[in-house]
Amino acid sequence: MISIYSSTAILIFSCVVAAILGAVLGSFLNCAAGRLAKDQPFIKGRSHCPACGHDLSVLDLVPVFSWLFLRGKCRHCGAKISPRYLITELLFAALTVACLLRFDLTVLCLRNWIFICCLFCLSLVDFESKIIPNGTLLIAAGAWLVAEPFLFESWTRTLAHVGTGVAISGGMLLISLVMDKVLQRESLGGGDVKLFAVVGLYLGLLPSMFALILSCILGLAVNLPRQRGNSEPFPFGPWIAVATVVMLFCGQAVVEWYLGFMGVSSTPAILL
Ligand SMILES: [Zn+2]
Repeated sequence: MISIYSSTAILIFSCVVAAILGAVLGSFLNCAAGRLAKDQPFIKGRSHCPACGHDLSVLDLVPVFSWLFLRGKCRHCGAKISPRYLITELLFAALTVACLLRFDLTVLCLRNWIFICCLFCLSLVDFESKIIPNGTLLIAAGAWLVAEPFLFESWTRTLAHVGTGVAISGGMLLISLVMDKVLQRESLGGGDVKLFAVVGLYLGLLPSMFALILSCILGLAVNLPRQRGNSEPFPFGPWIAVATVVMLFCGQAVVEWYLGFMGVSSTPAILL
């Protein structure tokens, strides 16, 4: 089997390729998310400057470098270009390299990377429009389904992952319905509930529970101080995405540590 760890030269080359691929895809996902948030078709038409309307050429569209060389300004009208472009391109390049380093050149790496693409895109859309697009969830669930025969370990494990998705999203749906009644407003978006169904498929029982707890902690810690007197719901999808990526990368280690702490010596397949 090919491994990026077979030599230092291959490792460096793989990381550089992954970083370039990640920056290009980060740029595409950012653009697609911006269009999805505005309910526009996400691959239609060329990108243009929102201030002067000039079509952007190849020189304006080189990820990371264009923004740096143009010092965050449009080449034609000098209007400021949001640092969001630079940040998303760098962040997704880093995530792609991290995914490759963690999972090596495997089907698991490709599957998890597609999932991270979907999480990244839906986070950007949710931040902007408080909507989680169904398309991103369908692509993520499809990638899981296609990869499962290649990664199959046992029926117990596969069914446990499907069951986790159903149980977590079902439980959250029930809680949100009760909270909607109590608070007399929408407490949790339908997109968040559907997102947890997909998270369950990927993570399995215990890592999904940890992701749920971590996402609540992150979401509340960041948003509650800003919510005072404001009853508007805040986007929860990005925090679910952050917690899910953390558990995707180190869920097994966290679960093993937790079970060891609880005095359980071997990890039953149904929990992971
Ligand atoms: Zn312009």
